[in-house]
Amino acid sequence: MILLCKKKQQMTKTKITVANGDGIGPEIMEATLDILFAAGANIEVEHIEVGEKVYLSGNTSGIAASSWDSIRQNKVFLKAPITTPQGGGYKSLNVTTRKMLGLYANVRPCHSYFPFVSSKHPKMDLVIIRENEEDLYAGIEHQQTDEVIQCLKLVSRPGCEKIIRYAFEYARQYNRKKITCFTKDNIMKQTDGLFHSVFDEIGAEYPEIEKEHWIIDIGSAKMADTPEVFDVIVTLNLYGDVISDIAAQIAGSVGLAGSANIGEHAAMFEAIHGSAPRRAGQNMANPSGLLQGAILMLNHIGQPEVAEKIQNAWLKTLEDGIHTYDIYKEGHSQQKVGTKEFAQAVIERLGQLPQQLAPVSYATGAAIQLKPYVRKPARTKELVGTDVFLHWPGLNPDELGQIVSQFSTESLALSMISNRGIKVWPAGFAETFCTDHWRCRFTATNQQKVSSKDIIAILEKAVEHQLDVIKTENLYTFDGKAAYSLGQGQ
Ligand code: NAD
Repeated sequence: MILLCKKKQQMTKTKITVANGDGIGPEIMEATLDILFAAGANIEVEHIEVGEKVYLSGNTSGIAASSWDSIRQNKVFLKAPITTPQGGGYKSLNVTTRKMLGLYANVRPCHSYFPFVSSKHPKMDLVIIRENEEDLYAGIEHQQTDEVIQCLKLVSRPGCEKIIRYAFEYARQYNRKKITCFTKDNIMKQTDGLFHSVFDEIGAEYPEIEKEHWIIDIGSAKMADTPEVFDVIVTLNLYGDVISDIAAQIAGSVGLAGSANIGEHAAMFEAIHGSAPRRAGQNMANPSGLLQGAILMLNHIGQPEVAEKIQNAWLKTLEDGIHTYDIYKEGHSQQKVGTKEFAQAVIERLGQLPQQLAPVSYATGAAIQLKPYVRKPARTKELVGTDVFLHWPGLNPDELGQIVSQFSTESLALSMISNRGIKVWPAGFAETFCTDHWRCRFTATNQQKVSSKDIIAILEKAVEHQLDVIKTENLYTFDGKAAYSLGQGQ
């Protein structure tokens, strides 16, 4: 019975949604699919159109409703790079897809293929796992004064738990030994601090995996210098975006890296490079990046043996010196080939193993399933103050302090004014540069209970004084512990 079920499973093709993309996209997609089918991938392809044509037809998101249906139904999306037209109004399809489908994990293996592809880091073999949905990429930006614009950095507990648990499960599945967490929690103690503490908390459930934390600045310097000391790196969205391109580049070429965007309900696989329009239609582009994305996809859909066969044939092709123009090097390479010929060379080597590069073995494949997120019991949350942000064109903080301190109520008193986070009142430094964006912090006096009415009273006084209130941020304690940052210099 079990055998019968397995056989039936093997016979049922996995339906995947495929977008050929723009520029070099159609050529590298054709080459990739040729290799997949020649290797016996058990897939059925459903094509959709996304990208430039869709954008230029007036759809600013670059994807039609029927294409969303295909992706949501098939849950697996192999996407060639697309061109986002220049000019206003066009939304990045990648960002939209990641967010709409909740693709919270971006996985990017960065491997050196030295000496066949030149790299200063012959032993590099690291995987970057980047949080993909939140952080500064929540895209919440506001201009608040003539001089100041803000971008909100949102970091959530479920967001941290999902990506960190994913990283540990990935390490377990792919037999990786160490995970390094990169944050900047010496400065962003609340947001990055949460990411770090969730890393420590979840890491404790994986005793067999070595764990370490680096501050992102020195960590990325170390990664660029000696990447071989890292195995898996997990980090927040913006840091991950930056370091994953650096890692791919120093591994040898951005043209050789693929990535997976994984969510609970769907996954998208792609090359990391763009549509290289100048190379389009010339049978020149290297299909390797997209092929690497497709290999991640085969593992995800539970076809690791096909993934392994292709990866080993691809390694053998690189090793045999059959190279597209971007990695071709006189003296190193044997033959400069086009996109089609490269794909053909990989197909001819299916079943062969590389001799010098380490062959891969994907013992286990299948989508990583995470324990569902469980919301923790609510903590005791108490309102203890408010930050009132003002657009004030004056230059002297003491003058503002004199006006705003009159707004204090019985339970809330002005305790600090800061400008771009630096305390400028009371007792600020004349040397501190001030913009027109001021934060006036009112905090609880004499253990009095603070209510929203106190905040409204402050705002009413600000309006009476014709001050331009941009926004307020409430100050809370959770279980008695202050959950807001102090002003720098406070
Ligand atoms: P790009 O990655 O397309 O190209 C940069 C250069 O890298 C090219 O000129 C080419 O010399 C080389 N290159 C890239 N891929 C190659 C390959 N497979 N084989 C050989 N050489 C390759 O970056 P760009 O020029 O900055 O962007 C072009 C377009 O791609 C833009 O419209 C951009 O928005 C888009 N883009 C799309 C994606 C995506 O869909 N995931 C990602 C990045 C950029």
